[in-house]
Amino acid sequence: MIEVEQLSRSFRGQQVLDKISFEIKQGEFFGIIGPNGSGKSTLLRLISGIDPVASGSVRLNGQAVSSYSRKELARWLAVLQQNALPPVGFTVREVIEMGRYPFQSWMGEDSLDAETLIASIIDKLNLAPLAQRTIEQLSGGECQRVALAKVMAQQPRLLMLDEPTTFLDIGYQIQMMDYIKEWQLESELTVVAVLHDLNLAAQYCSRLMVVNQGKVVAVGTPEEIITSSLIARVYGTEPIVLRHPVNKAPQILLQPGK
Ligand code: ADP
Ligand code: MG
Repeated sequence: MIEVEQLSRSFRGQQVLDKISFEIKQGEFFGIIGPNGSGKSTLLRLISGIDPVASGSVRLNGQAVSSYSRKELARWLAVLQQNALPPVGFTVREVIEMGRYPFQSWMGEDSLDAETLIASIIDKLNLAPLAQRTIEQLSGGECQRVALAKVMAQQPRLLMLDEPTTFLDIGYQIQMMDYIKEWQLESELTVVAVLHDLNLAAQYCSRLMVVNQGKVVAVGTPEEIITSSLIARVYGTEPIVLRHPVNKAPQILLQPGK
């Protein structure tokens, strides 16, 4: 579904991505991890067509990302960026309806029964009590849930998320990841997520890619990637790695002073 080859990006002479290559198959839950400033957001912006590819190539469904129009891309690819919600004043329902824009004709007619779809999303994400509130009347966790509802309304085949759980408390973190996972399993969605929490990444992703200083350090299963030596090499702190007692995913414990 996604083929990235020799992708590079620099800003004013500073090399931010350096010849990155990898592939993502349909239906994967693919996690991208790496230290702050390693180029993860830049990578996501290039893969999703937000920024133009100048060096190397990104192919989506066998076709260069640049060959799609914005509207074409928005019909099957959705991006949940950090702080992605529109400006104040819109109600929750209006924001979710914005997810349908790519499917509307110039007369504003939708290609499917959007009312039913939006009602089911509001129901699924428990947004009914908030539907008439405006964005500025929501907490951070509620905002993220609305942002997710908006991308769900787009009914994408491919979902890209940039740190969807940052600033959320643990309850909202798990809720957010569970919603995404459930949606992924139900609709064979392909998910590409930049995650900063390694323990969440190891529990939800089928494969992980580690990026450091603009280069791919490793790609593999969470078991292959979340090792104390690899994490120490990339993040400069050596954690203890244990198995989750219930689901067996590798989990890290930080060691002060190490
Ligand atoms: P990450 O998401 O892994 O934290 P980013 O992709 O946001 O990292 O940033 C990688 C590097 O690229 C950083 O050094 C950042 O300052 C730089 N960078 C990102 N976007 C721009 C931009 N538009 N102009 C200049 N430098 C940028
Ligand atoms: Mg980032």
